[in-house]
Amino acid sequence: MALLSIILPSYNEEQNIANTAKVLAGLLEKEQIDYELIFVSDGSKDKTYEEILKAAAENPKVKGAEFSRNFGKEASIFAGLQIALGDACIVMDCDLQHPPAVIPKMWNLWQQGFEVVEGIKSDRGKESLGYKLSAGLFYKVMSKLIKMDMNASSDFKLIDRKVVNVLLELKERNTFFRALTFWAGFRTTTVEYEVQERQFGESKWSMISLMKYAITNATSFSTLPLQLVTVMGVVSIVFSVILAIQTLVKYVMGTAVEGFTTVILLVLIIGGLIMVSLGIIGHYLARIYEEVKGRPKYIISKVTDNVQGNIVGKA
Ligand code: UDP
Ligand code: MG
Repeated sequence: MALLSIILPSYNEEQNIANTAKVLAGLLEKEQIDYELIFVSDGSKDKTYEEILKAAAENPKVKGAEFSRNFGKEASIFAGLQIALGDACIVMDCDLQHPPAVIPKMWNLWQQGFEVVEGIKSDRGKESLGYKLSAGLFYKVMSKLIKMDMNASSDFKLIDRKVVNVLLELKERNTFFRALTFWAGFRTTTVEYEVQERQFGESKWSMISLMKYAITNATSFSTLPLQLVTVMGVVSIVFSVILAIQTLVKYVMGTAVEGFTTVILLVLIIGGLIMVSLGIIGHYLARIYEEVKGRPKYIISKVTDNVQGNIVGKA
């Protein structure tokens, strides 16, 4: 019988673990799907891991791991994929904002032969203005670049074992799970779902962390900002040639341009452009530096006894 692994990244979710484990176990038993639940505590500061241990004691199909510190949601997803033994894996939030009722649908599509089942948010209207200006804007640009609707797509998806293995073999440190399944290809379909309200605890994303996430992902998936630097350079060269000719002509005709204002404006504008360009290049350099060091994406400090295989930090 095929095994389904459900991967649940969890950061400070002590209030959610028990309930989520119960809801999912109930559903999957009713649907007669063989499953395992993998909770990856992302260096939680509350009792999340203790809650996972409790859930595992009650249900042997619950597995868990704890990170040595907070490494971010991407890292917890990848640790979960590493631990998973399933023929198919579903990644979902452990606050049940991704409705469990979609799981059987994904499972059926997988049994029909689809290797990637993308969860697509059907209700996208009520995002805040701040979101629309930052992450939302970024997703629009990204959507154009990689030809997928980033605003509607999410981390809620089912992936086949083949795809899991492809993702686990990627050497990059700065991963972007949401887009990587598109990049990987395979036989793909979608299911729509409605994002639920969070019942317990609060969202871990601040405006700043969303912005950071957006920038990291933009630079890990596209080199367009670097090309933008070149474009800015070319545009200012064209302008300077025109301005130089005009200035020289005026000079020869004896009516030189009124000096200081023009000069100070030019110096400031060009100076600004140069600094921004250096910043962009610096950002890519930092990314390369991080990748070259080749440090692991995460460090696991603890795992539950039922976790198999050679997992880093396993006792
Ligand atoms: N999460 C995580 N590490 C983090 C932040 C969040 O593993 O550093 C998990 C979190 O526990 C949840 C999921 O990622 O299961 C989505 O986070 P959250 O619900 O806070 O985000 P939102 O739903 O508001 O976008
Ligand atoms: Mg949430």
